[in-house]
Amino acid sequence: MSISKKLLNNYGLRNTAFRKKLLQLFQNSDSSLTVEYIKDKIGRNNDKVTIYRALNTFEKSGLIHQVPDRNNLSRYALCNVECNPSNHIHHHAHFICDYCDNTLCIEEIDFPKIKKIKGFKFKKIELIIQGSCPKCL
Ligand SMILES: [Zn+2]
Ligand SMILES: [Zn+2]
Ligand SMILES: [Zn+2]
Repeated sequence: MSISKKLLNNYGLRNTAFRKKLLQLFQNSDSSLTVEYIKDKIGRNNDKVTIYRALNTFEKSGLIHQVPDRNNLSRYALCNVECNPSNHIHHHAHFICDYCDNTLCIEEIDFPKIKKIKGFKFKKIELIIQGSCPKCL
């Protein structure tokens, strides 16, 4: 069984050809992807609504997560294996490159411990680093 098929099955998602293609696109990329990029690559017969719907389902399932984008575009990156539908909080930094506009997930940095505040429920804690990525340096 291919990795993507296994992944889709594990997460209980319908293994449609489009979703398989979308997941493969993420797996074959070493960075995050914008909706525009996805549309360019596999969007021929799939309009933006289909892409957004698939991305939404993937995100809810703990397969991908939204990452910050330099130009405020919708951008997503693959999650690590620990993510699941009920636990999907990330403790890694996001690196935004000033030159290629790419956003990368950085697991190597110790994420600061954020103290909980009474009365608040944290859904997302973001650590963003900007600079030059290895490709652009
Ligand atoms: Zn996740
Ligand atoms: Zn770069
Ligand atoms: Zn990330």
